[in-house]
Amino acid sequence: MRLDVLTLFPEVFTNVLEHSMLRIAKEKGLVQYHLFNIRDYADNRRCVDDRPYGGGPGMVMKPEPVFQAVEAVEAEVGMRPKKILLTPQGSRFSQSVAGMLAAEPYLMLICGHYEGFDERIRMGLDVMEISIGDYVLSGGEIPAMVVIDAVVRLIPGVLGDIDSAKNESFFEGLLEHPQYTRPAEFRGMKVPDVLMSGHHQKIKEWQKIHAIKKTAENRPDLVNKP
Ligand code: SAM
Repeated sequence: MRLDVLTLFPEVFTNVLEHSMLRIAKEKGLVQYHLFNIRDYADNRRCVDDRPYGGGPGMVMKPEPVFQAVEAVEAEVGMRPKKILLTPQGSRFSQSVAGMLAAEPYLMLICGHYEGFDERIRMGLDVMEISIGDYVLSGGEIPAMVVIDAVVRLIPGVLGDIDSAKNESFFEGLLEHPQYTRPAEFRGMKVPDVLMSGHHQKIKEWQKIHAIKKTAENRPDLVNKP
């Protein structure tokens, strides 16, 4: 997968992309990251924002630099990416959307800032609008990192053991069952006997029951989903 990020703050990505699974994915040759500063595609004054028509607080990201950045990168690469606009007004990101995006050969994530994007960026660039949740962050960089991490670990070959993704929360609509490791007893809290019994069928049953129980307690909306 080729993964491009268009942002006003490319430097904030470098550390995140150099660690853990995102780094491993790159080292395995399964993903390439490319960072672009939208400001480099602005006019001579490197101006990327302006006051909103109709008044109101803050500044809005101008369309020209974003269009110019997208078009220049597309021309350089010679391929059309699936374009993602990070915005709190987008549809909610989820594990199933991450799975769908993991099958794409080329993603381009566009990060907003200030009061957000001029509406013509959404209208004219054939983008998928993604929100990472019902709250407003200062910029699209952290949302882009969330999307990148969730997507890249689902690219086949990135996780050493593909079953670790299949057993995780949301894969089958439930939260994951509780997990334990050594010691068998910690501060009076014991690991359930069944998990140390070696009886695979009983362990599976226990895990299923406790996945449902945990989901019902913490996320009843998932249990009642059709
Ligand atoms: N004025 C906008 C609104 O009320 O919808 C919010 C703009 S926000 C301060 C600036 C940028 O942060 C957005 O353009 C977007 O790129 C990013 N952002 C903030 N919250 C986000 C979220 N929940 N999901 C995705 N991106 C978000």
